[in-house]
Amino acid sequence: MGLICKLLGHRYEHCRCTRCGAQRDEGHQWLEAEGTCLHTCAICGKEDALPHDWFHCRCKRCGQQRQEQHLWLKKSACEQVCRICGEERETHTWQHVDRGVDRCKHCGKTHKLTPEEIARRDEEWAATDPFEEGYEDLPDYTPDPD
Ligand SMILES: [Zn+2]
Ligand SMILES: [Zn+2]
Ligand SMILES: [Zn+2]
Ligand SMILES: [Zn+2]
Ligand SMILES: [Zn+2]
Repeated sequence: MGLICKLLGHRYEHCRCTRCGAQRDEGHQWLEAEGTCLHTCAICGKEDALPHDWFHCRCKRCGQQRQEQHLWLKKSACEQVCRICGEERETHTWQHVDRGVDRCKHCGKTHKLTPEEIARRDEEWAATDPFEEGYEDLPDYTPDPD
């Protein structure tokens, strides 16, 4: 630390003291780079990450991919494809056809449930109240007077 800086304090310009060259971690002069989500300080060379500029599943700036927010397009009744990254997914509408078997309403594809899924479903069904028939007391008929 220079003598003047010792007496008067540093004279920072951005992140560096113009008198003694002392460095601080603030006031950086960030330069944005093309095609990356890092910016670099023009003075000290420090790099820092920028928040990605997401467009659906891809960063517009650096091209990073994420597995969310895809832009799904319907390919068929049960298939979708992401317009941006080409990710595909199936979206069947399962309907119960037999114990342990589901069939898609649209394409007829069948899906066998795992023993765990079957057990879970049996449990769910057992938990729902069975339909109770109303055995409520009917009001007594008043006998017709003769
Ligand atoms: Zn200084
Ligand atoms: Zn800097
Ligand atoms: Zn990015
Ligand atoms: Zn995508
Ligand atoms: Zn289907």
